Amino acid sequence: MDYSEFAPIPVVDGHIHLVHPDLVSDMRRVMDHVGLTAVNLVSVPMRRAINHNAALIDFKARYPGRAYISGALDYVQVRADLDQAPQTLADQVRRLQAVGFDGLKLLESKPTARQWTEFAVDGPTYAPMWAALEESRFPVVWHVADPEEFWDPEGCPDWARQHGWCYDEGDFTAKEQLYAEVEHVLTRYPKLRVIFAHFYFLSADLQRAAAFLDAHPGAHLDLAPGIEMFVNFSRDVEATRDFFIAYANRIVYGTDIGAGSAARDPAQGLDHLDAHGRTRLVRQFLESDRPFNSPDELGHGLGMDVKGLHGIALPDEELSQIYAGNFRNLFGGQPVALDRDAAIEELEWQASAIDALEGALVDSPARRVAQRLNH
Ligand SMILES: [Zn+2]
Repeated sequence: MDYSEFAPIPVVDGHIHLVHPDLVSDMRRVMDHVGLTAVNLVSVPMRRAINHNAALIDFKARYPGRAYISGALDYVQVRADLDQAPQTLADQVRRLQAVGFDGLKLLESKPTARQWTEFAVDGPTYAPMWAALEESRFPVVWHVADPEEFWDPEGCPDWARQHGWCYDEGDFTAKEQLYAEVEHVLTRYPKLRVIFAHFYFLSADLQRAAAFLDAHPGAHLDLAPGIEMFVNFSRDVEATRDFFIAYANRIVYGTDIGAGSAARDPAQGLDHLDAHGRTRLVRQFLESDRPFNSPDELGHGLGMDVKGLHGIALPDEELSQIYAGNFRNLFGGQPVALDRDAAIEELEWQASAIDALEGALVDSPARRVAQRLNH
């Protein structure tokens, strides 16, 4: 795959999913193929497998300096003692820092996740955690809401319905309620440093995005597709380009590479075509001055096959802010070092929690990575 059409400047992808230790070396290959200097690997909470933190630790141990890692919270531990939940969540953030995580990933305000965690992010359960995050300046990658059409019974796309992401039926939190919760959090903890994933789903309303960024100096927006973002951006190329130049210090490059890999067998490896397609989509949008269609490599997954997009041809200075500068201002010039002993302790703890859930000794990712780090 040829990337010579793109600007020869360092690129850090701020939003990549690594879901299993068996994908670590393949992810390293993907980084080289799509020309990434560094990545931010993110983890999400799960009901039984707890989260993907073990895979992130494994990557950092094997390729130090190439990956920032943003860990997920552990709701198995939270639910084990609900009275202690506020303290537990704050302690989990401190433990992530001690292990050598660079940031926290929150999926908790995606409607499906919001439904199963059951706690409002602006409620008392999370208050000590926000205070700990603000005090330590630990950055957060935070997924809030979803595209507006997912709440619309007619407009919700079939691919989203297949994932259970249409919110017209069932007891899902309304989009504006999710935003209201975020406003409360950012107002109470104004020094929080946050990258809102997928442009905070405000790509259809750049005026609102501008007002949001003006009101909250610690807030940033990432460019990870949803293709709907680039459809919206392409409607008024000039207005979009003006926005990107005005807020070039608040926008972070990201692609969501690996987002689909939780549904695949890790033995199949990563979907390299999808990784190329996502990279080409976002970079073409930022750099080209021409109309383009979504890259063929993306195929039909997640409704990604669209036509009639348009690039905004940003100057090099804005490109280097968006590609690496803004992310490094938030996360530091280099990933923090892994504390091996703290990592092993954390992984062994997670492995035994999974054993307890399953009522048997499980060959979990956490156990396997702990064993590898012990040797
Ligand atoms: Zn993601």
